[in-house]
Amino acid sequence: MKLDSIDDWVRTCYSVNVTPFMDGKEVTLFGWVREIRDLGGIRFIILQDREGTIQVTVPRKANREVLSKSDALQKRYSIGLKGIVKKTVMSPRGVEVVPKEIKILSTAATQLPIDITGKTPAKIEVRLNARALDLCQEQNIAAFKIQHHALEAIRNFLFKKGFLEVHTPRIIASATEGGAALFTVDYFGEKAFLAQSPQLYKEQLVMSLEKVFEVGPFFRAEESHTRRHLSEFVSVDIEQAFADAKEVMILLEQVIQHACITVKEKCANELATLKHKVEVPEVPFKRLTYDEVLSDLKKEGVEVPWGEDVPTEAFRVLGKLYPNFYFITDWPTNSKAFYIKPREDKAELCEGFDLMWRWIEIVSGGTRIAEKDLLVDRLREKGLNLQAFKYHLQAFDYGMPPHAGWAIGLERLTMMLTGKKNIREVTFYPRDRVRLTP
Ligand code: ATP
Repeated sequence: MKLDSIDDWVRTCYSVNVTPFMDGKEVTLFGWVREIRDLGGIRFIILQDREGTIQVTVPRKANREVLSKSDALQKRYSIGLKGIVKKTVMSPRGVEVVPKEIKILSTAATQLPIDITGKTPAKIEVRLNARALDLCQEQNIAAFKIQHHALEAIRNFLFKKGFLEVHTPRIIASATEGGAALFTVDYFGEKAFLAQSPQLYKEQLVMSLEKVFEVGPFFRAEESHTRRHLSEFVSVDIEQAFADAKEVMILLEQVIQHACITVKEKCANELATLKHKVEVPEVPFKRLTYDEVLSDLKKEGVEVPWGEDVPTEAFRVLGKLYPNFYFITDWPTNSKAFYIKPREDKAELCEGFDLMWRWIEIVSGGTRIAEKDLLVDRLREKGLNLQAFKYHLQAFDYGMPPHAGWAIGLERLTMMLTGKKNIREVTFYPRDRVRLTP
């Protein structure tokens, strides 16, 4: 088929901006054919673009050119059209567009691997294999718009609070979170790694920029195949000088609340598409200590030995007791990373915290160790190689201020905001133990 060229056509509006009030006006629309229905010679084309859909009605007596173009259309062809808006009671939105001219800009395969209207649901593996097409489903567009608005809200909030956005290396020479779960990279013949987090760099940056944040992908060679772990995930990290865990927890709950308010306000249509409700959480969030968590669990018949991490099954029980956001504080020092500051009054507990949503950990943070000797002790206790941390330790000779920070897992936050149960649903192109493509 000979394709049309876009020429000087410019979109006048998106599908959703076409309203009955525009009756009689001419519009230029671009998008994709979502569905075609023939009814006694009248042809209805549902045109989809990023913002939604609009009914395009081709009457029997349309001009020959329009009739032959509309005859040739199939699902997922990308098209442009100039047409007249018509108020009607015959379409769900009370409006349709009658085309004067149609351009076929690209074609598509006759057999598509999934039904993007979602009427015939496909398994997630099938959808992920055809992800570019799968992402055209209204549900997916809605989920990623919600993620976009949440991240925009978080960024704006942090800018207002005086945080500067920074960029740290993804190719690194030594582990930041301990030795496990690292991907290795051949770096000009030398062994390097993909960064698990910006931890060490963001800590060093508080010496100069004081309040920093970074949004970007990080990498964990996760062996476990769960619905909340990816090998590559997006982290929203902050680090703040002259602050402790208490202060950054207050900032965090405000950030989360602001993201929820924004999504609720700006994404009403997307939430309706997903049939999901976002409740704006009240601040302050509940604060539970690790000991309180263990005692709550014990009352529910779940024993977690003191000092150990809380297993997933126990978190599920906890999530039923606390079905919203809550912090867990005062973790055993040894259960947290080497850079988390032990409590001054009780060194076996630390100033690390997690922010949970129901049973899922969404954020982890804490006061960091700012004293070099203590950091060296903690590295030794964790059995880490001091030499590998040479440059990081050096920074502590140059005036490291007290500091604290946190990291939000963006996909996990998006799960909460969209009601999706599998992290792969809210990741454009998920990477896990068994998936490296597309
Ligand atoms: P978990 O115990 O759930 O594996 P973690 O304690 O290893 O998480 P942190 O290293 O504290 O996670 O990372 C901070 C945040 O980054 C987590 O709270 C989570 O939201 C997100 N995150 C960490 N690892 C992953 C992953 N593999 N996939 C998706 N998100 C992750």
